[in-house]
Amino acid sequence: MHDEEAPGPVTQASAPQAPGRPGPEGAPDVSAAATKAVTVLVADDNEVAQRLCRRVLQKAGHRVLTASDGQEAVNIALSDAPDMILMDVAMPGMDGLEAMRQIKEQKPSMVVVIASAHSMAGDRERFLAAGANDVLSKPFRLNDLTSVVDKLVGGTR
Ligand SMILES: [Mg+2]
Repeated sequence: MHDEEAPGPVTQASAPQAPGRPGPEGAPDVSAAATKAVTVLVADDNEVAQRLCRRVLQKAGHRVLTASDGQEAVNIALSDAPDMILMDVAMPGMDGLEAMRQIKEQKPSMVVVIASAHSMAGDRERFLAAGANDVLSKPFRLNDLTSVVDKLVGGTR
């Protein structure tokens, strides 16, 4: 009986679950042990996107703050000093790029990842030139979100 299509030699193929891997839905943050827990500000006017990012980041053991527009993002960034900001571009009032500009002006070392929808050619370079530490194109895989957090501010172990 073969329950996995694993090519080549495989050890412990039947292990039910590797230690340190995220458990089933609702399980405690078992993955937190592998990465440093940080505080991420998720700035997005879309509630569904905000909630999804929050759940994924919390499950990875991180603390999450949220903002629904650019001005709120600036306020929280300056008052709560998160380790990283995931910044939507299109938001009502002040957009994400202006919010990033104001935040970087006062806190140049603040890590900001721009999350942009409807990306066009050259957007990534434009956002990086504007000061973004990295750029995620929406829709991004949730794995890409936790990876960029680990890469930029989480580190390993
Ligand atoms: Mg938006």
